[in-house]
Amino acid sequence: MTAPNPAATAFPTLADVLDAQRVIRGAADNTPLVPSPHLSSRAGREVLLKLENMQPVGAFKLRGAVNAVSRLPGDCPGVVCCSTGNHGRGVAFAARARGLRAVICMSDLVPEAKRAGIRALGAEVRIHGTSQDDAQDEATRLVAAGGLAEISPFDDPHVIAGQGTIGIEMLAARPDLATLLIPLSGGGLAAGIALAAKTINPAIRTIGITMDRGAAMHASIRAGRPVPVTEVASLADSLGGGIGPDNRLTLPMCRDLLDETILVTEEEIRDAMQVLFFEDRIVAEGGSVVGIAALLSGRLDLPAGPLATVITGRNCDMAKFAAIMAGEDLRMGDMILKGRHYGA
Ligand SMILES: *Cc1c(COP(=O)(O)O)cnc(C)c1O
Repeated sequence: MTAPNPAATAFPTLADVLDAQRVIRGAADNTPLVPSPHLSSRAGREVLLKLENMQPVGAFKLRGAVNAVSRLPGDCPGVVCCSTGNHGRGVAFAARARGLRAVICMSDLVPEAKRAGIRALGAEVRIHGTSQDDAQDEATRLVAAGGLAEISPFDDPHVIAGQGTIGIEMLAARPDLATLLIPLSGGGLAAGIALAAKTINPAIRTIGITMDRGAAMHASIRAGRPVPVTEVASLADSLGGGIGPDNRLTLPMCRDLLDETILVTEEEIRDAMQVLFFEDRIVAEGGSVVGIAALLSGRLDLPAGPLATVITGRNCDMAKFAAIMAGEDLRMGDMILKGRHYGA
């Protein structure tokens, strides 16, 4: 084993985000920031959508993965990570571009559509246990066995800096943005975006949003330490999992850089998926519409001025997506989510 790299434990800065922007150019796209006329009229302010669902692997996680993989030493034989699906897809994509072996550890809760997308990129998929913690255990075991470098889905300065490039792009396109609604799970996305946005404009309001079924970061910020959550099925499957018992970076960054964290219900996520599809014609996964769900909940106390949310990904199971749009009931673990016809 080599000695730990001190840079790997330091908090990233805006300079790291700008550096990541240079590194990921050509691999991850500067996605469009488009107005939503429907949401703008419902919210009484301009609402913009940052379309990370349009990234090459269908989610923003490509940014952090490409940045982190590019930092690996030239003799690194391969990478391993745990993932709820999209990080694994980004790592698989970035590893293939460098000719590296990639092993992606996931729990049984990860939908088949996400597993298939990763296999299609040539990575090895290991399904282990029924939670992100179980998947993490498998990744830790593989690292200990030797040879593979681990890339955390969120608690890694290069991953955070990579996701932060979204913040730079949004503020470059619209320096007048007053509020950012950011989907929140392990917090790499929220930490990176809030770091970039608050450094550029300290007055901007940053709100992290997650589902109420297993809101690890929300609970951990309140407790002041990493709180384990029981993982259950959710429409927002990509927001599942804890923040890691040894969290080093994203908990302090989210605590310091987010003005607020808000929870949304499965019904609100379902309704937001329908609004985005029927009004804005966008196919997006549950985890990516929680900002819209929070906006439509009426529970946000917002400053005047334009607001943007990140549509983080599109990698949903299409049969489930079609059922939700058709207003059908959906079984999710021990819960039945009642269907609702859009506009009814
Ligand atoms: C990973 C992910 C998130 C949350 O990102 P974190 O960095 O874990 O907070 C949100 N949306 C989608 C689609 C994701 O894949």
